[in-house]
Amino acid sequence: MKETLNEKLLKNIKRDTITNLPYFDNFCMIAENVLAKEDDRYHIVASDISNFKLINKNYGFSQGDILLNKLIKDFCMDNERCVVATRIYSDHIVGLFITDESDETVVERVTKFNSKFINENQKDYPIVPIHIHSGIYKITSNDGHITNYIDRANMARKAAKGHYKINCVEYSEVLLKEQERVAEVLTVLEENIRNKEIVVLLQPKVNIKSQKVVGAEALSRLKDSDGNTISPGEFIPILEKTGKILDLDKYVIKYVFAMMKRWYESGYKDIVVSVNLSRIHFYTDDIAEEIIKGYEKLNIPPSLVEFEVTESVFLRDTDMVIEKIGKLREYGFKVSIDDFGSGYSSLNLISILPIDIVKLDKGFIDTSLDTKRGKDIMGGLIKMLKDVDLDIVCEGIETKEVEEVVYKFGCNEVQGYLHDKPISIEEFERKYL
Ligand code: C2E
Ligand code: MG
Ligand code: MG
Repeated sequence: MKETLNEKLLKNIKRDTITNLPYFDNFCMIAENVLAKEDDRYHIVASDISNFKLINKNYGFSQGDILLNKLIKDFCMDNERCVVATRIYSDHIVGLFITDESDETVVERVTKFNSKFINENQKDYPIVPIHIHSGIYKITSNDGHITNYIDRANMARKAAKGHYKINCVEYSEVLLKEQERVAEVLTVLEENIRNKEIVVLLQPKVNIKSQKVVGAEALSRLKDSDGNTISPGEFIPILEKTGKILDLDKYVIKYVFAMMKRWYESGYKDIVVSVNLSRIHFYTDDIAEEIIKGYEKLNIPPSLVEFEVTESVFLRDTDMVIEKIGKLREYGFKVSIDDFGSGYSSLNLISILPIDIVKLDKGFIDTSLDTKRGKDIMGGLIKMLKDVDLDIVCEGIETKEVEEVVYKFGCNEVQGYLHDKPISIEEFERKYL
């Protein structure tokens, strides 16, 4: 193998036996020495192979090592811009590179490099989709520790992972701000849970014919220490990414169960309350058993509780998800599919999913009502869903006219600002119980 990695720098340096790269400590030492002499001509690239675990699992460790070493050969060994590189762990590699191009060109070159590498190697691992993600940090002045630069490149690498089409991201202040906000939101969540301060609101669901409130959806809000509200649009993606959504949902479930017990004992026995369940539960937890165990103690009918799941829950591990949802339903809870029509809706799903209710998405309803054809499709869809005994709730209804149209199509229940926004439990009790 031709080695352009600076051999002089690596003399007498101990190397990782699998990759022949210097160990992390030695990498840092060498990089710091280089930067101490000249500090404005370098950038760090951090890369990793997604699904590397699956490659090892499906093709064996030796095949995994072959792929990793091919990447290392192209990434640094045969790359004359590379000064020194190391493997942080597993498939995570980091290199110090000479910058002789503009920032955009560097990003473009790494992006192309990643795509080319995948194109050339995917055929050898046909059952595991390979992705490479990279983050770049340009060292503008050597005023920190090399590990800080690596952290920034890694922060950019993680940002690249969140995108479908982008495989390389350059570190920026915006990214840092985003990261800080993520940390802030997670701290607020933790504090809100500890101090039992998560705000749980209820939005009524109304029977169109009787105009009576027949149910409610529980929707949560976080409150920071200044009293500012953080809305689900911001915190749900963060909590889903970090897995913390499990803690939030469990809190909301416990909270709602306690409220239902109170209502039941006070004689309010016919309001069905729904809770949103993130898809993350179905991949990681024994959520069905846990929920049932918590509810059993209450001694109230399970038919008063509904769980809302979005259709994206069924994109992965469909059998396992169906089994868990089946357990919830067997116990007597209702399950609805939320935001139907907003994303990947497949009619095919409806025929295999064990659900009771379909909630039609606001966006879907609004765009459908714009055209004659859209209206026909929505009318047909509602009829079809009713024919297979599914209940339908139309979400985001803001005007009487839209309510009338969906009622004519056969929908009996709506939720939306026309009737009320999400309100506090006290206000809900005062207005509707
Ligand atoms: P969702 O479950 O589809 O809830 C309905 C959302 O639509 C709510 O937004 C509600 O305030 C809003 N909405 C209701 N009626 C109208 C209307 O007439 N017009 C308009 N423009 N909007 C209306 P919210 O409360 O901001 O929640 C957003 C999403 O966040 C929810 O969508 C749900 O998917 C998620 N979410 C909220 N709380 C939780 C939670 O505790 N756990 C989980 N896993 N997800 C939650
Ligand atoms: Mg919902
Ligand atoms: Mg919805």
